[in-house]
Amino acid sequence: MEFKHTSHPSPLGTDARAQILTDPGFGKHFTDHMVVIDYDAAKGGWHQASIGPREPISLDPAASVLHYAQEVFEGMKAYKQEDDTLSLFRPEANAARFNASARRMAMPELPEELFMESIRQLVAADKDWVPTIEGGALYLRPFMFASEAFLGVRPATQYKYILIACPVGGYFKSGAPAVKIWVSRDYVRAAPGGTGAAKTGGNYAASLVPQAEATANGCDQVVFLDAVERKWIEELGGMNLFFVFDDGSVVTPPLTGTILPGITRDSLIQLIREEGLQVREEPYSIDQWRADATMGRLTETMACGTAAVVTSVGTVTGPDGDFTIGTGGPGQLTTKLRERLVAIQKGEAKDSYGWVTKL
Ligand SMILES: *Cc1c(COP(=O)(O)O)cnc(C)c1O
Repeated sequence: MEFKHTSHPSPLGTDARAQILTDPGFGKHFTDHMVVIDYDAAKGGWHQASIGPREPISLDPAASVLHYAQEVFEGMKAYKQEDDTLSLFRPEANAARFNASARRMAMPELPEELFMESIRQLVAADKDWVPTIEGGALYLRPFMFASEAFLGVRPATQYKYILIACPVGGYFKSGAPAVKIWVSRDYVRAAPGGTGAAKTGGNYAASLVPQAEATANGCDQVVFLDAVERKWIEELGGMNLFFVFDDGSVVTPPLTGTILPGITRDSLIQLIREEGLQVREEPYSIDQWRADATMGRLTETMACGTAAVVTSVGTVTGPDGDFTIGTGGPGQLTTKLRERLVAIQKGEAKDSYGWVTKL
């Protein structure tokens, strides 16, 4: 498919952009361009692709996404390499997961080649927006939603795929501190048979009240327990978890359909095995977590995702009181894996697994 190109008539000036790139934060500033691809079942599916100035979109007030939330998204980063070129980390995994999410939400799949081409086009147009600060990257946000004006409840026949980008610094304000976690007792994120494994906005909407509860209790993030027994640890609102033990073994909750299959999670499993440690994908309960942390058998808990890479969980506040993990600060394995993963992403370490795609 040919992309129609429209250059931005008035991109942000060099000085203003440079100013933003010194401290971009997360998701606050956006680049000059965006990609839009339209889908219409009556026109044979995906039929019109363009890259042009980032601007507001016009949408019929009956667009079904506004009523029934048929929407999926991805989150990935373009990293600056030592030689100043740019690269992506496992983008084909994002393309595949985007389509897996789309299937769950009864949406059409976007051909992976078209997904990749949209990324290449936008990064090429906005390549001057990649911050060079420590931990900086160009965050890419592909998303798709039902644009058909129709209030009946059925899968829409018209969709829009849009790709926007924003320069980002480190996710957490002060580098990679240990985060404080709130155990949600009253709310769950996903139930068996639900949409927990899909990257869809509704999962995030449902996490906002428990997240606000976490914040009100002085915590950074919420950890969700399973919906059936309210016992097994699932994940944070947007990050997967790993539990590290003093016998050199590591546990992460299994992908049974209620947990988002993180690409960082999958990469860490491989990197941890490379360290000679054993990783088991098995259920781990909140009570065991507290007991193991209190006894010192559990040395670290890692939270991971594209936005924050890998970070330690320092303290946990739950219905049965607080507990601390290890020293309460960043753990050794967490720090090592973070450095290793970042080095691969930035092209400083050998890419033994073929994870890096040069742009
Ligand atoms: C995106 C996301 C993750 C992390 O996935 P990555 O591919 O590692 O970025 C974890 N949990 C949830 C709920 C997510 O939406």
